[in-house]
Amino acid sequence: MSFAGLTGRVALVTGAGSGIGAATARRLADEGCSVALVDRDEDAVSAVAAQCGPQALAITADVSQEPDAAVYLRAAVDHFGGVDLFHLNAGVPGPFGSFADLDAADYDRVVAVNQRGVFLGLRDALRHFRATARPGAVVVTSSLAGLRASAAIVAYTASKHAVIGLARSAAIEGAPLGVRVNVIAPGLIETPMQQPLAEALGGEPALTALHKHSPLGRMGRPDEVAALVAFLLSDEAPYITGAVHVIDGGVDASDPMQIRP
Ligand code: ADP
Repeated sequence: MSFAGLTGRVALVTGAGSGIGAATARRLADEGCSVALVDRDEDAVSAVAAQCGPQALAITADVSQEPDAAVYLRAAVDHFGGVDLFHLNAGVPGPFGSFADLDAADYDRVVAVNQRGVFLGLRDALRHFRATARPGAVVVTSSLAGLRASAAIVAYTASKHAVIGLARSAAIEGAPLGVRVNVIAPGLIETPMQQPLAEALGGEPALTALHKHSPLGRMGRPDEVAALVAFLLSDEAPYITGAVHVIDGGVDASDPMQIRP
């Protein structure tokens, strides 16, 4: 399936070296976009860029640092002449443990990437759209943990709540510029991000078992999330902005009390 308005556009994806970001980069390349892939892992991002074909550019940068954030956008603009679509997706998992035991340094490390990195990316995207007067679209990766609290992943939960506020603010400022900004809130997706959770639970089977009672009964796949991102970035979503899109196999819809007929 392909979505209208993607062919020939320039997309920038952060965290493109793995998981959801890699799947989005591949999907957008399949849709005919030129893709700038940004990741701090040089080998990983180069490998995914190679899968995306000749219209792909790998950029190694740490999204949480200035001036890296401005530098990755500049590299994409210099190469492609501008950027139309952004998927601000780079993220790190938090330490698994109780709130009372959370180190401030661990908290800062997670917030730096998941929250500050998205702040820098959104700010610089808005500056780019304002300066070039080109319409565009942005998707930010939050999480089901951006809508619900879990005492076990406090820093991650806080950072993923925060990016919803950042993205909604950007949606308001972007609207008169012709720029839409949306948020995706994935549940458990099969990516390396789930590794700390799997380890804390005692292994992969325990992670899979978590889903036994969820409506669709399984984890999601990165390509399933990439399809949602591609739709939101396309011209087929012209009236959708400032919204949070849950993609979680029905977990958020289901009754935590598990009441059954
Ligand atoms: P997800 O479930 O979000 O896809 P992954 O761990 O598979 O999780 O992918 C996250 C990607 O984000 C990785 O490729 C990782 O290298 C990248 N990443 C993490 N922190 C940064 C950062 N500070 N700057 C750029 N990329 C980052």
